Order: sequence, then structure tokens, then C-alpha cells
Amino acid sequence: MLKLWKLERKTGEATVAYPFAPLPVNKDMRGKPVHDAAACVACAACAVACPADAIWMSVDPDAETITWNINYGRCIFCGRCEESCPFEAIRLSQEFELAVTSKADLHDQAVYKIQECSVCGRPFAPRKEVDLARRVLDQVVGSAAAWQRDVLDVCPACRRRLDAQRAKASCDAANAAVLLEAIERDAAQAGGADAAGATDAADGGTSAEGVR
Ligand code: SF4
Ligand code: SF4
Repeated sequence: MLKLWKLERKTGEATVAYPFAPLPVNKDMRGKPVHDAAACVACAACAVACPADAIWMSVDPDAETITWNINYGRCIFCGRCEESCPFEAIRLSQEFELAVTSKADLHDQAVYKIQECSVCGRPFAPRKEVDLARRVLDQVVGSAAAWQRDVLDVCPACRRRLDAQRAKASCDAANAAVLLEAIERDAAQAGGADAAGATDAADGGTSAEGVR
């Protein structure tokens, strides 16, 4: 017994006080993903990247909302969501105590409005994403950016139609300019030919008189 006591004194504390005291964890530990709903624009990049399908997006067409969802029970703490998020709206914390008494408590969500198309009225993209694109385009100058700003709240199908109409209008204008240029060129050539013909006629008259 004395031998064991001496050994214990020599070894020191072999256990930790957890759960009666917080357990220190490594600074790089990957724990519960924490979602910042204000920074998130509902782009779904994290849902696409998540290998465990722990994150998914759901759309309610009647309410015109898109919902970001996470099931912590499926999470494998791989960190792909954090890597893929362009806005740092999801980060892995050091929290590892995820036990709950109800499965529903493992589910978290954030609801976002969807932008309606200004042409056909169909909801087509998260409004926060459209607003972000507008803020970015506001800092860009040029006619291409201006056009993109004009069609920001237009759905892809209607935008393709508008793009085609715009291309046709610019083609028509270009064709009209080419046609006008050709007419003017022909007119100028015709004027030159008339002047040369008049000179030839004058020369021909002189030589005819000489023959006679
Ligand atoms: S840590 Fe990995 S498994 Fe968990 S939510 Fe993020 S991507 Fe999905
Ligand atoms: S990647 Fe980021 S911004 Fe996009 S839905 Fe996920 S948390 Fe939100």
C-alpha cells in the first residue's frame, strides 16, 4: 500500500477534472459549426461542400423563402463548410458537448427572402445574394456593369431574352451603319465615274474632229 502511495506521488495527477471543470482543448480543434445568419447570403456553397449532407437548403415557393438548415447529428466536423463559405458566415467552434435530450434540438435554421423577377414575377435567387451583387457592381464603372446592374433583379430566363433583344438591337444598328456607309461609298464612286465620263466625252470629241 505504501509502495502504491509512493508511486502515485511520483506519477502525479493522472486524470482530469472534467466534467467538473472545463476541458482544455487544442486551439485547432474542430467542434460544432457556428452559423452567422446575418453574414450568410444563402448562397448554398456550404450545403454543396458538406460531405455528410448535414447542411441543406429548402425552398418554400409560396412564402418565397429559402431556408438554410443544419443537422448537428450528421456533422463529422470536417470543416468543409468553413472552407467553402466566401463570407466567413460559418466557422467551426471548439464546442464539443453536443448531447441533447430531443433530436429536434440538433437542428438549426435561418430563413431568407427570395428575390422576384422584375419581368416575369418568378422568385429566382436569395435577395441577400442579389443585394450583394448590386453593392459589388456599384463599385464597377463601364457600360457592361451598368447593363448587369439593370438586369440584376431579372431571372436567368428573362435575362437571356433581354440579352438577345439587346444583341439584336445592336446588330441592327451596326448593320444600318454598314449599309449607310456602303450607300455613301457607292454614291461617291458614281460621282467620280460621272466626272471621268464627262472628261472622256470631251477628249473623244476632239479626236473625232481630227479624223474627219
Ligand atoms: S463540418 Fe463538415 S460535416 Fe459538419 S456541417 Fe461542415 S461540412 Fe458538413
Ligand atoms: S456558404 Fe456561407 S454564405 Fe453561403 S449559405 Fe453557407 S454559410 Fe451562408
